[in-house]
Amino acid sequence: MRFGAAIAFSILVVMLLISVVAARLSRKPMGKWVAFVNASLMIPVIGNLIIIVSRTQDHSNYGYYTYFIGMDIAVYSLFRFALTYCEIKLKKAKWLEYAAYALIIGDILQYLLNPVYHQAFSTEMLMVDAAAYYRIIPYVGQSFHRVICYGLFLVVIVIMTYKWRKTPKIYSEKYSILLISLLVTGGIETYYIVSRTPIDMSMMGFAILGVLVYYFAIVYRPVRLLDRMLASVVSDMPEALFFFDRSGECIWANGPGCFIAGVKEGSYDNVKSNLEALFGDIGFDDPEWSNNVEIGEGDDTKFYNLDTRRITDETNNTTGMLLNIHDNTEYQRELMKQMYNSTHDALTGLYAREYLCECIDQRIKSDVDSKYLVLYVNIVNFNIINDVFGSKFSDLTLKHMADFMRTNLSDTSIYGKISAHTFGLLVKKENFDVEHIEERLNNFTISDDNLEHHIVIHIGVYEVEPDDEADVNLMFESARLATSRLREDSPEHIVYYDDMLRDEIVYDQLISNQLQDAIKERQMRPYLQPIVNNEGTLVGAEALVRWIHPDDGYLSPAAFIPVFEKNGLIAEVDKYMWRCACEILADWASRGIDSFISINISPKDFYFLDVVKEIKSLVDEFEINPAKLRIEITETLMMTDSDDRLDIVAKFRQMGFIVEIDDFGSGYSSFNLLKDMPVDVLKIDMKFLVDSDRNPRSNTIIQNIINMSEDLGIVSLTEGVETFEQYQKLAGMGCKLFQGYYFSRPVPVEDFEKDWFRRRGGSAV
Ligand code: C2E
Ligand code: CA
Ligand code: CA
Repeated sequence: MRFGAAIAFSILVVMLLISVVAARLSRKPMGKWVAFVNASLMIPVIGNLIIIVSRTQDHSNYGYYTYFIGMDIAVYSLFRFALTYCEIKLKKAKWLEYAAYALIIGDILQYLLNPVYHQAFSTEMLMVDAAAYYRIIPYVGQSFHRVICYGLFLVVIVIMTYKWRKTPKIYSEKYSILLISLLVTGGIETYYIVSRTPIDMSMMGFAILGVLVYYFAIVYRPVRLLDRMLASVVSDMPEALFFFDRSGECIWANGPGCFIAGVKEGSYDNVKSNLEALFGDIGFDDPEWSNNVEIGEGDDTKFYNLDTRRITDETNNTTGMLLNIHDNTEYQRELMKQMYNSTHDALTGLYAREYLCECIDQRIKSDVDSKYLVLYVNIVNFNIINDVFGSKFSDLTLKHMADFMRTNLSDTSIYGKISAHTFGLLVKKENFDVEHIEERLNNFTISDDNLEHHIVIHIGVYEVEPDDEADVNLMFESARLATSRLREDSPEHIVYYDDMLRDEIVYDQLISNQLQDAIKERQMRPYLQPIVNNEGTLVGAEALVRWIHPDDGYLSPAAFIPVFEKNGLIAEVDKYMWRCACEILADWASRGIDSFISINISPKDFYFLDVVKEIKSLVDEFEINPAKLRIEITETLMMTDSDDRLDIVAKFRQMGFIVEIDDFGSGYSSFNLLKDMPVDVLKIDMKFLVDSDRNPRSNTIIQNIINMSEDLGIVSLTEGVETFEQYQKLAGMGCKLFQGYYFSRPVPVEDFEKDWFRRRGGSAV
């Protein structure tokens, strides 16, 4: 019996030791408390072991001291463990912890005094299994010890009970089992104390308690909790789930599953047939089976994803099938919405650029037998419409355009919006009736409640070649370039892109890139064309730009002025020319020459420059008399936005400049204009002269212009005089000044000076 007990205790000591090490090694927060409990429990177990194996009273006494003091430590460790394990914070009752600690220390001290005062216990010999065994005789100190140990033990039981009652059922297992083992251990201990059985086996209970503590605090996971959690997760899943047994019968479905299959929870008989009626065949035998199914039509279409999975046992035998039906409708709708948004213009609902290009590209490649045109449609001055009439009206314009395309284009056309105010189209060549469209565009109006506005639309046309490799974006770009050939007031609205146009555009770009260098290197220079009075005497000259191009030689202004007028570079040319004119005038003034120079001002200069300020500062810089720098403004400029322009003319005249109207008669409302226009000189367009040789009515008109200008105090100047007869006739009509090849072509400044100042003695007035 003693031998057996000794073996049992030794095994317990080893078990506890393993628990201590394992608990220390685990990274769980409870680890150190579990190790503390088990290490503490080892002490009384070892004490008990010593008692059992002792042959002498002394040895036995060591055992008892170890046992009792160890018991103190063990109960205290259980107390600390219980607090942590049950997550109890003794905030206000901290004293309880201190009291427990003090009492335990007191008890240990009391035992240490026992060899002197014998107040706790003494031992008496007893024969057990024919060997000496020492049993204690308890005194008052021993009673103190028991009160403390039982008291603290009771506290532990109270803590555990409290926690067990408070915790939801699924979790309470981890408290209830420990509680039971505490009660059992306490019971056994009490039995041994009361019965005074010689060999105390109660420590068995404590050791087992230690192992249980280790298990529950470190290893245990609430399996039932897991089961419940999994079950509730599956039931609450938004997906429809069905379990089928091996024979293919449905044995369970969650709520959404029952809903889809149209059955009540618990009665799964019709699940399979209902599902097959809804979704068609389902691959119950195929573990890899998956399918996307659409049910319904139009906006009510619902999208489902079906998936089967095989369920196997440990030996990989099929035990059943899981079917999972996911309602994808929301996602699909969102996806379709996003897809629509990214491929369509929000305002008009037309295709957006990228998608449009994709569709056009596909069509061109798939239908190689048809001839197609790519159109670029631009609403001219859209930004102005937006500024003047507001965004509501401009939105309306865009929507109107979209509707127009929807109702007027054939089904084979593809169209969309390619930028804020431009549209792109692909139409079959045979469906594109230029005349008909021109007619419609001639008076294209948009009307709002109280507003009707005529809008100008330009269409650039790119003809898709068979096997055309060009990118659709490039086709649009080409068509766009074609429209750049159209002016706002052009009678045509449609222009085709062709090779000539491409070459022109390439050339335009080339010379635009070269302009800065051309100015710097003085490839651009002013030529002067003399202006004479009716006695043939020089009075001044017009400065006309020439470009002596290093590769292309002499370039006429007609080759580059319109290009630069379109892209705004004209301002650079003119600023340069004005400066040259001022340089020449300053030079002339220093030499006492009194002639004037007329400079040309392009209507486009006003967009890019403060023309008045610019010219005034030049005159100041070169200190020249403003009256010697004559300002040529075209008649067409004066007709647009006339209030503003009249101001400009007035400003120039106030400063002492002489203002000339160039190309008079080339516009429409010239006469009307004259009466409001405070100008100094009228340059009559030579076109009238060309005409007047053949048409006597032109003569009448010229005569009237001259008479009228005289009445208004305006000097008349005719340009383009090529013959002596013309000169005579015009002089006879009363014209004051003349310019034309008859007198001289425009020539370089040196030649001009040589011809007009030296040869004729510089007698210019
Ligand atoms: P414009 O201002 O009307 O200039 C008169 C044009 O008529 C010049 O052509 C001149 O060479 C030409 N011309 C002069 N006499 C005769 C003649 O008897 N018969 C014929 N058939 N033509 C004659 P050019 O120099 O080729 O200039 C053409 C246009 O280019 C100019 O017309 C003007 O609008 C523009 N331009 C020329 N230089 C400049 C400049 O520096 N700045 C600006 N903005 N435009 C310029
Ligand atoms: Ca001119
Ligand atoms: Ca002119």
